[in-house]
Amino acid sequence: MPGCWLRGGGGPLVLLWALALPLASLRRSDRPKLLLLSFDGFRWDYIDRVPTPHFHDLIEDGVTASRVENVYVTKTFPNHYSLVTGLYAESHGIVANEMYDPATGRSFSMETDSIYEPAWWEQAEPLWVTLQNAGGRSAAAMWPGSDVKIHGLYPSRYLPYNASVTFEDRVARIVRWFSGPEGEAVDFGVLYWEEPDESGHALGPQSPLMDPVIADIDEKLGFLVAALKEAGLYEEVNLVVTSDHGMAQLSPDKIIELDQYLSRDLYTWVDRSPVVALLPKEGKLDEVLGKLADANPNMVVYKKEDVPERFHYRHNGRIMPVLIEAKEGWTVMQNRTGPFMLGNHGYDNSLRSMQPVFVARGPAFRHNYVQDSMRSVDLYPLMCHILSVDPLPNNGSLAAVRDMLSQEPPPPPPSTPGTAPSTPGTPPSGPPSFDVPPGADAHSYAPLVGSFLGVVMVLGFLVVYIKQVTLKQLPSLKHRSREMSQPLLQEDLHL
Ligand SMILES: [Zn+2]
Repeated sequence: MPGCWLRGGGGPLVLLWALALPLASLRRSDRPKLLLLSFDGFRWDYIDRVPTPHFHDLIEDGVTASRVENVYVTKTFPNHYSLVTGLYAESHGIVANEMYDPATGRSFSMETDSIYEPAWWEQAEPLWVTLQNAGGRSAAAMWPGSDVKIHGLYPSRYLPYNASVTFEDRVARIVRWFSGPEGEAVDFGVLYWEEPDESGHALGPQSPLMDPVIADIDEKLGFLVAALKEAGLYEEVNLVVTSDHGMAQLSPDKIIELDQYLSRDLYTWVDRSPVVALLPKEGKLDEVLGKLADANPNMVVYKKEDVPERFHYRHNGRIMPVLIEAKEGWTVMQNRTGPFMLGNHGYDNSLRSMQPVFVARGPAFRHNYVQDSMRSVDLYPLMCHILSVDPLPNNGSLAAVRDMLSQEPPPPPPSTPGTAPSTPGTPPSGPPSFDVPPGADAHSYAPLVGSFLGVVMVLGFLVVYIKQVTLKQLPSLKHRSREMSQPLLQEDLHL
């Protein structure tokens, strides 16, 4: 009760409040800002294919990663959710763009309102929810999942998905939300644009017609930078520009017709090429696997339990019992009557064609630094670190990407010296596992630690003050305390 404390020692307490309250408000208002932008399907090498001055300006003034390994399957929904959770698809539960959940009997499709059912998303918690629960504020413009109520929360500010809203309008909203009045301005924003994915599918990445599409994306990046500058946010906001996946060139000569090998009576088709997910009919698993084995050299057939460890794609009920993975450039269809695209993604995430761009710039990042490689799941602990929010258990590693930061994070706490970051070479075994990298928690606590130290200093002063006053009034208490503490200490030692 404040009144009681005031009666006991008003002077030191007032000092305590005077220091602690500004520390608390400093922690809220001083939270660094971060804007995460995804240009869907922006392959890593697009920036060197045509002049992209705005990308290169950011790289010169910030950081880039030469190689970014995203998550399997290299589709849009799984990878966008990995970026904001730091989890592989098997762990966050958005395992594909098209899913079936045997536990509920429900289906998920990008083409239906099923994407708004929270249950699909709630095997994980996106960063905006975690940040808001920690007292921060977030904003979203069309990011997959950001207009779904997940664990009871929407982003503080968000736009319901509407593909007809222009990039410029999305930017205008996000910039306005970042520049709101104190107490309303957001700390973290996610911004999504559908290109160059749509053109990549329609034209194929090798088409010369992709050149102006890529140049236009660079113009859009320039528009965002100009808008941030105009709002006075450019030096304050950490800008991360990346994507969910790349794009591979397809060919009408490279089609695998499943009907040639397998009767449709034997299975339900759940997800599409290039990683086709099949649910065999009751009791037909072995027959399906038998008919597909060695059926076509341009596809690999996996029984779910035998999916390679490096894909981290086994441990979820939404992963179907049979997966058919086409080799790069090949398309699996039931027959040739279906729609055909000249570009696609979803293949093995170690393929260069599947990997996205990564560029970041802002006060948290170094200048003109090139990171050799990273995994897209590493971005989550990095963002948590920058935003000073405690990361949830995740598959990423801050240690793997901390060289991109402008300031050296503090060393790992002594209590976790043996914790090893998860790496592609040491995949988890058994059920989905998580790794909170060393240092991630420690630095996320930095503002808290600062406040704590401030309070400890004041409490120290308080103790000395009271002691001095008390000792003057009761000189014998000093001796009595020592006499009482000694037996207790010995008793403890004998236990
Ligand atoms: Zn995509």
